Amino acid sequence: MHMIGIDVGGTKIEGVALDNKGREIFRIRRRTMHDSGYENIIKQIAGIHMSIAANIGDTPYSLGICTPGTIDHDNARLRFCNIECMNGKNLLRDLQDEIGMPLALTNDANSFALAEARLGAGRSGHFVFGMVLGTGCGGGFVVGGDIWEGCNGIAGEWGHSVLYHGGHACYCGRHGCVERYLSGTAIEQSYHAISGRKITVPEILNARKCGDPHASRVLDGFMEAFGLATANLITIFDPDIIVLGGGLSNMDDIYAEGTRRVRDNIMGDHVKTQVSRNILGDSAGVLGAALHGYEVGRSC
Ligand SMILES: [Zn+2]
Repeated sequence: MHMIGIDVGGTKIEGVALDNKGREIFRIRRRTMHDSGYENIIKQIAGIHMSIAANIGDTPYSLGICTPGTIDHDNARLRFCNIECMNGKNLLRDLQDEIGMPLALTNDANSFALAEARLGAGRSGHFVFGMVLGTGCGGGFVVGGDIWEGCNGIAGEWGHSVLYHGGHACYCGRHGCVERYLSGTAIEQSYHAISGRKITVPEILNARKCGDPHASRVLDGFMEAFGLATANLITIFDPDIIVLGGGLSNMDDIYAEGTRRVRDNIMGDHVKTQVSRNILGDSAGVLGAALHGYEVGRSC
């Protein structure tokens, strides 16, 4: 059986077909027309599925799709999705109606974690946390090779656990969430607040190299938040491996200074949990969606 995975993102929708040994046989990528409305996004996803299916012949296949946001276990509706027109919608039902076959739906952080745990930097671990540090901050757990969604469907949503009580306001309605300190958006807003200048994360990293004290202060605050939030996570869940993804995972400091701050904040005097850079890059989401679709299809 082949596996089709589709990763729906804010800027692009990507699809891939894998053969029964996990080898890639077809890939397609199109820009997400998110301004065109929910029904059109459904049609775009279905169109990508049709293009892939037309290229893999008559071999039976499973289908998995991942999106930003989380799926409410009570009513199957999507929430906290950055493609705003998709919030509140029963995406699984609507996609199955449009495509005409059963499929598995999960969020993009879970897909990232699953792909890295099975095929990437987390392969040697039984309990893996995929930590996504990009524009926002997300995560997903994989236990024994399977996504662990939790009783409320929010396992791994550590970006909205409170790090600093009474801290910065978050769009989730609370204050002091991890995401308000550990994300590209947080770094840029923090720099703007203390310097009055609006510049990007790469520009802030460059400014620090040039001796900008504001940049040093902001990035030091980021490392402190990383150490504290990650130590909290390890203390509660104690994973074997944490795999970092998202644009900020390319910051070399995280693997040296960041992990030192973890050790400073954790119970006990040593940490065996490995903090690793991802291996699969941008492909993790679509590969994880394909693997998840196969597992769910097989268990039905
Ligand atoms: Zn929040």
